[in-house]
Amino acid sequence: MQTVLVAGGAGFIGSHLCKSLLNENYKVICVDNLLTSEAKNISSLLAKPDFKFIEQDISKALDSLGDISNIDYMFHLASPASPNKNSAKSYINYPIETLLVNSAGTYNLLEIALKFNSKFLYASSSEIYGDPAMSPQKEDYFGNVNPNGVRSVYDEAKRFGEAMTFGFIRKHNLDARVIRIFNTYGPIMLPNDGRVISNFINQAIKNEPITVYGTGDQTRSFCYIDDMVEGIKLAMFSSNTKAEVFNLGNPDERKVLDVATLIKQMTKSTSKIVFEPLPTDDPKTRKPDISKAKKILGWKPKISTEEGFAKTIEYFKSI
Ligand code: UDP
Repeated sequence: MQTVLVAGGAGFIGSHLCKSLLNENYKVICVDNLLTSEAKNISSLLAKPDFKFIEQDISKALDSLGDISNIDYMFHLASPASPNKNSAKSYINYPIETLLVNSAGTYNLLEIALKFNSKFLYASSSEIYGDPAMSPQKEDYFGNVNPNGVRSVYDEAKRFGEAMTFGFIRKHNLDARVIRIFNTYGPIMLPNDGRVISNFINQAIKNEPITVYGTGDQTRSFCYIDDMVEGIKLAMFSSNTKAEVFNLGNPDERKVLDVATLIKQMTKSTSKIVFEPLPTDDPKTRKPDISKAKKILGWKPKISTEEGFAKTIEYFKSI
């Protein structure tokens, strides 16, 4: 049986990944400090013999991993990820932790990957493109990032994490790869995490005002969680992925205002759509070019935006 370590395994994407890996008969070690994730995301896994949870901040020395004798694969998904300053879970409220988990945390994990000769995957973000001057974004685009703006603690941290990963590839020939995750949504997302899909659905089902920031003309492209998990696994487990960078996301680009209207319709909500100030440095456009993932991984999203929204509406209604 092969052993996988998932850093950030109690988070939204991480916990889905842990479940999927357990179903495929991997032994899973989940490392998470529960800063912006929740223990309940993995509570159903704790009783499984092949699942181990270590509550630990990977930015600090990883002493508690001392008794582990082998790790075949390491996924690094540990980081606060919501940009919404109104959410207590946002990286805006954890600027130093966000910088450290993607820098010192990435370094600490890479050292362990080197020791065990583990295959390594670093979860970067579409945020490394900043407010992109080209659309769709391709992996070879360098981005347009404000180096000290409010979002820089995340954007620059992810850029540094990529550079650190490539440092280990070039210096140590480590078998590592980078994925850039575009907006992802679905069940287990926290209702209070401040992201647009969770906000709009929860506002709509409570018939509260749906808060569109700015004019709502800015665009995003939304990927359903199950598709994302498939893409992440393929980036790790497929051949010919060493030292590669993959955009993972759904290229179905939508205006934020259209998303508000669609969710209002789908929930049959009486909510008003209201307009609030656009956050600083909010990217105007975001759409992944996924031709590389299609070609090398044979991956593309299977779940349409409407289908994924319907599943997510059902989930939020149920909790
Ligand atoms: N947004 C919005 N209303 C909300 C939350 C977000 O209009 O209640 C907008 C936000 O300004 C951005 C887009 O929706 O343009 C996506 O925001 P999110 O925080 O989900 O992620 P981002 O793509 O900005 O990282």
